[in-house]
Amino acid sequence: MRILFFLLCCHLAAGASIAREPEADNASRPGVFLITIDTLRADHVHCYGYDQIRTPALDLLAEQGIRFTQAFTPSPITNSSHTSIMTGLLPSSHGVSDFGVPLAAKYPTLAELLAKGGYQTAAFIGAVILDSKNLAPGLDRGFEFYDNFPEITKTKSRWGRLERRGMEVEQRAESWLNTHPDGTHFVWVHFYDPHDPYEPPPPYSEIYKARLYDGEIAYADSALGHFLAYLKKQGWYEGAMIVVVGDHGEGLGEHHEDTHGIFLYDSTTHVPLIVKLPNEREAGRTVEGQVRTTDIMPTILSLLGIAAPANLDGDSLEQFLIGVEAAPRTVFGETEYPLRFGWAPLRSIRKEDFKFIEAPKPELYDLRADPGESHNHYEPWDGTVQKLRRALAELSVKSPPAVGKTSPAAVSASTIDELHALGYLGSADARSATDVPEPSLLPDPKDKIEQQNLLRTATMASEEGEREKARAALEKVLQLDENSALALTQLGRIEMASGNYAKAASYLRRAHVASPNDTTDAFEYARALELSGDLAGARDVLLASLKLNPDQFEAQLALGRVYLGMNDANAAEQQFEAAVLLQPGNSEAQIHLAKTLLHRKKFTEAVELLEAVAEPSNRNPEIFGLLSQAYAGLGRRQEAQRAQLRAKAPQNAKQSQ
Ligand SMILES: [Zn+2]
Repeated sequence: MRILFFLLCCHLAAGASIAREPEADNASRPGVFLITIDTLRADHVHCYGYDQIRTPALDLLAEQGIRFTQAFTPSPITNSSHTSIMTGLLPSSHGVSDFGVPLAAKYPTLAELLAKGGYQTAAFIGAVILDSKNLAPGLDRGFEFYDNFPEITKTKSRWGRLERRGMEVEQRAESWLNTHPDGTHFVWVHFYDPHDPYEPPPPYSEIYKARLYDGEIAYADSALGHFLAYLKKQGWYEGAMIVVVGDHGEGLGEHHEDTHGIFLYDSTTHVPLIVKLPNEREAGRTVEGQVRTTDIMPTILSLLGIAAPANLDGDSLEQFLIGVEAAPRTVFGETEYPLRFGWAPLRSIRKEDFKFIEAPKPELYDLRADPGESHNHYEPWDGTVQKLRRALAELSVKSPPAVGKTSPAAVSASTIDELHALGYLGSADARSATDVPEPSLLPDPKDKIEQQNLLRTATMASEEGEREKARAALEKVLQLDENSALALTQLGRIEMASGNYAKAASYLRRAHVASPNDTTDAFEYARALELSGDLAGARDVLLASLKLNPDQFEAQLALGRVYLGMNDANAAEQQFEAAVLLQPGNSEAQIHLAKTLLHRKKFTEAVELLEAVAEPSNRNPEIFGLLSQAYAGLGRRQEAQRAQLRAKAPQNAKQSQ
């Protein structure tokens, strides 16, 4: 570390604020601005040699900073990738291998370390995928302000509910900085725009009419340009360290992958990385050596003279920044996203111009001769294969694969809906798929990618209300795999939404048979049976599912309802009681139980239940209506009248007391 600082001191202009001794105090440290641009392929940026686009902001940063031509993310999935940027760890080390998996407190984040170093920290995200309330728990650690999405939104539009346009994210960052102008800042800004669906606003929608993905990139670049202009206006730009990086790329049909997440080819792992140092030091340098996004955190820390945590997977890039020769870094790749579909997870290693992908059908590419990774040269006895396979095995020993390791926080149904609306697929308890004994026994995603594209098309079409388009795509999936639980479930949902309950039940039955342990599938199947009038069938499915996992609130309520429909009030009462026990504060469960008690003329028990929840603060008129009935049943007429008054005008609770 000392030597590196010495090199940095010699090489940089005298008085370089970034080259202070490690014990430098915060007053002398530069502001740090980290900008992540979602779904940004390196080869779709102008300064990376793509001449069909204008990205003046990125180009300017490259001119005034250091551009890494060969930077790679270890993960093609937003949450895992961002967590790697923030922790300097591979997904298999930090454990955030899926949406909703909390980042364990034992892994320090960049924000946390900079906050400890006296920085004012804030984060501005462009999609709910990074919301720390549900889909990215723990990623907000160390941020004084983390700009999550509102819990409840009335809008049906995706804007403001699921996504924020780049300009809105930028404006929110400006507003915060305007109200927190003092001190030294660490601000992370996330532009989500290039992520699909590709819907750039005008004029980008016109200029890039034929290439809407590029239009989104150009638009995100314009938002970045606004942010840089703001930093200049504030007088913060010159002295700041600015890092811009893509979280992953986009398939764009290469290797038959439309978007990202399933594969580990360069199309989705090669990202732009640009570092602008304070006072434009090393301006215009390009670094050709292979580096990783896990190197970003240790680089920022070492440039600031803040000690990095031990055992990081990444390493500081100081030597690269100052042009001192440095050996290319070994790039590892990991994706567990295929597990959401029941397909094998993948791992890769990119080293010395070769890439080896560990899969049920392994792959080896000679990147110098075949940068598009189109000719698989895998042979088990090949020396390169053996060497790279050994290196991957060593990594597994260092951090064992995440199979069964972490489970996501209880992900709510609305969160699952949000994921679907963003085009991510898979069932609510996708992690149960990771309990497979041997990933290589699962299908190779290469053989399944067409299905994934169709499922994604269907999900997005459903979200847009285009049912016919969704149906057609899903039928195609069933032609490829008649037992695709995901396709069957989605078809069932479409029929449910159209009111075709019997048809829905027939799809959902097949989905249930294909994945008998999926409680979400079972619940939806039972609901379709209930609505199509087959109450006994619904009862049997719910009973079996509750036997598998008794803690299913919605299933208990549904079973209670089904029993009521079958005139078995005794069994219904038991179910509603169980539901109230599971969620004591849930008024839906309370109301169901109270109604059943009243139906059974158990007035004393009903009064007991309802009095306990009929506090002055309770604004639910139904509770008071039922309480009135219960009092009346016991002949307590005055109390019945008072409760009735509150049922009619709960807002006047005080007067009627
Ligand atoms: Zn992403």
